[in-house]
Amino acid sequence: TTRIERHHYDVVVIGAGGAGLRAAIEARLAGKRTAIISKSLFGKAHTVMAEGGAAAAMGNVNSRDNWQVHFRDTMRGGKFLNNFRMAELHAKESPQRIWELETYGALFDRTKDGKISQRNFGGHEYPRLAHVGDRTGLELIRTLQQKIVSLQQEDKKEYGDYEARIKVFDETTITELLLDGDRIAGAFGYYRESGEFVLFEAPAVVLATGGVGRSYKVTSNSWEYTGDGHALALRAGATLINMEFLQFHPTGMVWPVSVKGILVTESVRGDGGVLKNSEGKRFMFNYVPDVFRKQYAETEEEADRWYSDPDNNRRPPELLPRDEVARAINSEVKAGRGTPAGGVYLDIASRLPAEEVRRRLPSMYHQFKELADVDITAEPMEVGPTCHYVMGGVEVDPDSGAAHGHVQGLFAAGEVSGGMHGSNRLGGNSLSDLLVFGKRAGEHASTYASGLSARPKVSAPDVEAAVDRALAPLEREDGENPYTLQQDLQAVMGDLVGIIRRKGELEESLVKLADLRDRVTRVSAAGGRRYNPGWHLALDLRNMLVVSECTARAALEREESRGGHTREDFPTMAPTWRTVNLVCSLDGDKVRLEHKPLPKIRAELIQLFDRTELSKYLTDEELADFDALTG
Ligand code: FAD
Repeated sequence: TTRIERHHYDVVVIGAGGAGLRAAIEARLAGKRTAIISKSLFGKAHTVMAEGGAAAAMGNVNSRDNWQVHFRDTMRGGKFLNNFRMAELHAKESPQRIWELETYGALFDRTKDGKISQRNFGGHEYPRLAHVGDRTGLELIRTLQQKIVSLQQEDKKEYGDYEARIKVFDETTITELLLDGDRIAGAFGYYRESGEFVLFEAPAVVLATGGVGRSYKVTSNSWEYTGDGHALALRAGATLINMEFLQFHPTGMVWPVSVKGILVTESVRGDGGVLKNSEGKRFMFNYVPDVFRKQYAETEEEADRWYSDPDNNRRPPELLPRDEVARAINSEVKAGRGTPAGGVYLDIASRLPAEEVRRRLPSMYHQFKELADVDITAEPMEVGPTCHYVMGGVEVDPDSGAAHGHVQGLFAAGEVSGGMHGSNRLGGNSLSDLLVFGKRAGEHASTYASGLSARPKVSAPDVEAAVDRALAPLEREDGENPYTLQQDLQAVMGDLVGIIRRKGELEESLVKLADLRDRVTRVSAAGGRRYNPGWHLALDLRNMLVVSECTARAALEREESRGGHTREDFPTMAPTWRTVNLVCSLDGDKVRLEHKPLPKIRAELIQLFDRTELSKYLTDEELADFDALTG
């Protein structure tokens, strides 16, 4: 028989990015025995890569900012498809979560009078991103880890054991959630280094596994973002929403080819950088959509004045939400006005003194110097869209993070959850999302565990089945090569389910995905269980495929263009589609897609908008409701 290491916890948190760590801290503060599991090294999560900052309406730089304005911006950014309750909680609680980080030891950049400094970002009306140069994610992870260490030191004093109540298992991949009926009973996985299996028995699991970008070839995401949490949730009976909405960040590196996709932070534009085509023209002025016309400058002069006098001028169109900028770049390149490497130019060199560029954007300076031999203080960067963030994810209860569907004891927070960002996320709203909803998920997972009269039990046959599934690729000989399969999947998703989508191509993608799903059942990995990346990928592929299928199906179903979903054959936003969430679930191993009405926005929240703006998004029926409300 196969040896399996067993552990018992109250709360198991899968993922050690911002959402996972914040959830784990809360569970431990609630007195729960908590495990943190991470596929990568501890500290190496997407969160650590975040550059620009965390959005929170603290009003430090412009005192007009408050949660209502942040809520409004978030809903606009998501084109009103956001779960309004999540957007409300996020806008209200982000400032507290940022200040709390300082009690954990975080040190954000300061204003002249010593407050936490805040920078401008696309779609945010006021400077709102708390930041540490362009290394904000590093500070976030560092301080959350530090807080965990301090909790472990308390436990050492009390129990004589640092790991009595909170323990980190890094380089450990979870492949299955185990159920007792419809209740979570545990999580099963393997240590990446030894290939040995490990079972965590626990009544509550928090998914905090991040995104799905590795299903695309050009992506800012790193190797571990294979949609594991999304797939684990589906297989446990939970549902996913908004999977058609992927964020293509407008500015990824396009050259050299080996680094294509690596992110160029939006802070470059927030701090004054402008986009130009091969004719040297600032083209974004041609791409301001009607819904945003009132808030964006019409001339270069006005746009430039805005940086020093934001109260009397409108923002530059380079700071439109990301979906708009990505589409604009795509159009310029398609029209033959792209750079030699197929991008556009991003120019900060002619906008700020060299010294200032190095001070504000140190990581970008080094990134371009080392990877492309480009000095961004003297030359423009070449950039183009890159798959960056998934708005879709586990459908959750907004207050608690509890997953919907036929499962209890499962919670989700951070990028793996859906709803908060609607059809498009504003930059900076993820780091704050992690803190707000990570905390909430940790708290509610603990309450759930406390409320159980008996612990759900892991069944031996389920564990055996999990072992068999994990070993299958190693036992098959001469099957499909996992790397070839991944490349084929990336080609399908990039070519047929990319930035601009069409009916025929989406249908073709579903045929190809079905074929890939069939081939994945024959995937084999050479070698043994000790550190074997081919085997790991073989196991990840199953997740990537089911999640990609959800994206393709939902993209085919949604016949409109909104946020991170652009249909060439349905180029406008349709108010009737705004009232619909597309919900994915698994029926056996078939992906099922259903329409579900969006919850109605509460009266005092909808009244934060004026009628003219709402008329661009809402159906006539909804507008009539609004008129009745406002008399
Ligand atoms: P992550 O930080 O992605 O962590 C996921 C964790 O889950 C990892 O520990 C991983 O190892 C683990 N995991 C995954 N699968 C498994 C499994 N099967 N078993 C065990 N563990 C698993 N957002 C902003 O708000 N502001 C920014 O400035 C910003 N800049 C960004 C820059 C870059 C380059 C990138 C890529 C993203 C940026 N984002 C930014 C987005 C933001 O960083 C992410 O959305 C966010 O960090 C996600 O956090 P998370 O906690 O949900 O997951």
